[in-house]
Amino acid sequence: MNEGLVTTAYLVSGILFVLSLGGLSKQETARKGNLYGILGMALAILATFFSGQVENFKLLIPLMLGGAVIGAVLAKRVEMTSMPELVAILHSFVGAAAVLVGLSSFLDPGHALMAGNDKFIHEIEILLGVFIGGVTFTGSVIAFGKLRGSLSGKPILLPARHVLNLGMVGASIWWGSQFLQQGHDPAWVSLLIVMAISFVLGVHLIVAIGGADMPVVVSMLNSYSGWAAAAAGFMLKNDLLIITGALVGSSGAILSYIMCKAMNRSLANVIFGGFGTSSGSSPGAGSEVEGSITETSADEVAEELKEAKEVMIVPGYGMAVAQAQHVVKDITETLRAKDVNVRFGIHPVAGRLPGHMNVLLAEANVPYDIVFEMDEINDDLPDVDLLLVVGANDIVNPSALEDSSSPIAGMPVIEAWKAKSVVALKRSMAAGYSGVENPLYFKDNTDMLFGDAKDTLSAVYSAL
Ligand code: NDP
Repeated sequence: MNEGLVTTAYLVSGILFVLSLGGLSKQETARKGNLYGILGMALAILATFFSGQVENFKLLIPLMLGGAVIGAVLAKRVEMTSMPELVAILHSFVGAAAVLVGLSSFLDPGHALMAGNDKFIHEIEILLGVFIGGVTFTGSVIAFGKLRGSLSGKPILLPARHVLNLGMVGASIWWGSQFLQQGHDPAWVSLLIVMAISFVLGVHLIVAIGGADMPVVVSMLNSYSGWAAAAAGFMLKNDLLIITGALVGSSGAILSYIMCKAMNRSLANVIFGGFGTSSGSSPGAGSEVEGSITETSADEVAEELKEAKEVMIVPGYGMAVAQAQHVVKDITETLRAKDVNVRFGIHPVAGRLPGHMNVLLAEANVPYDIVFEMDEINDDLPDVDLLLVVGANDIVNPSALEDSSSPIAGMPVIEAWKAKSVVALKRSMAAGYSGVENPLYFKDNTDMLFGDAKDTLSAVYSAL
């Protein structure tokens, strides 16, 4: 294929990726955004295939087919609730790929023929690719383990961990300069040392992060994987990979910033760990909750709903586990038919991935115009007659605002307790993701409806 054609195809792919990101930023256009992304990637693969730079088709085609089958089966099988782990492990592949591209670029015979500035710049690209890729690779593997539950979600905080991190960055810079000056013979020893340090740094950065900070970490690793891909693009002199990497890197960084703002965290605090430890309390601590809870039944909740004029539904991770979104939609329709004003309040980190609740509600065809962000509804809560907390916990936990020793202190939450009456639907008194007890359940205006949210809501729906 002629070079101009390949460049044009890459340009069109780049534009499709930008359109894809634009589409994905709104629920109404998300499907279209996905389609643009698929088209852009298909075009990019085809153009690379016929660019004349690819030769070993005998090896490439079976590998690509194998990868495509594994990817398709995994994507088909994965539950929405396990999506963050899948995303984390996919980031680790990008990191590992950048490391491998770095090593192979170094071993490439073309590299030995380079001289002067070209060689210097190429070796900086190799170093950056290996370093960022290494941190992304091991960091994502640890994030995968934590999200999956194979590793403890609690932060592991080594003494003087910031000094350790700085020391590792400093050592990488020193060994990197040795690599550039060929101070050691053979030069690959310095490169492998930088790689080893980046692996350890990735593990150390992510084991220090715990509790409710994991969503931001996944988004940060998403950003790192983009920069690693961009570095690989520089090494391979592939403009599209540079553009795509930069798009992923910057959009991941922006998403992390938005999530940090939503959780009242500074980005530095998340990256270097220490969430929940600034007040000196041990992670997972927080004050014990005293008082008693009141249980209610599906029939009673249905009666309350019949009386209500203003209803707010706050869904959380439990709605995803129970797959209760369809019965939630049925109840919403029934109430709206009786002129009840039903609205949904969505916390930015509800569930286990950004936009998790919006995806589920869209799947159940809940109209977009009754789904609101936390900031849009928090002021209206005193006017709400009945607020249903469907499998949410951390995102409606008053201790975030009232208890400075709580590990989630300072995180903005949906102030559910301000509604006239609250019903919390969950299976037990177990804590949420961050492991913190929730005083909401003990408040006078809160009743508990125990059981799987789909079962209890189905009973409410029948009674309605
Ligand atoms: P939580 O994990 O805080 O609470 C979920 C609640 O759902 C639990 O208390 C659980 O209680 C209940 N539950 C589980 N299964 C069912 C079921 N089948 N039926 C009814 N209830 C059920 O979730 P939230 O959405 O409130 O908060 C999200 C948390 O996850 C935050 O801490 C956030 O930081 C974190 N997180 C968010 C990510 C994101 O990107 N959105 C990614 C990773 C983590 P019980 O067991 O008693 O039923």
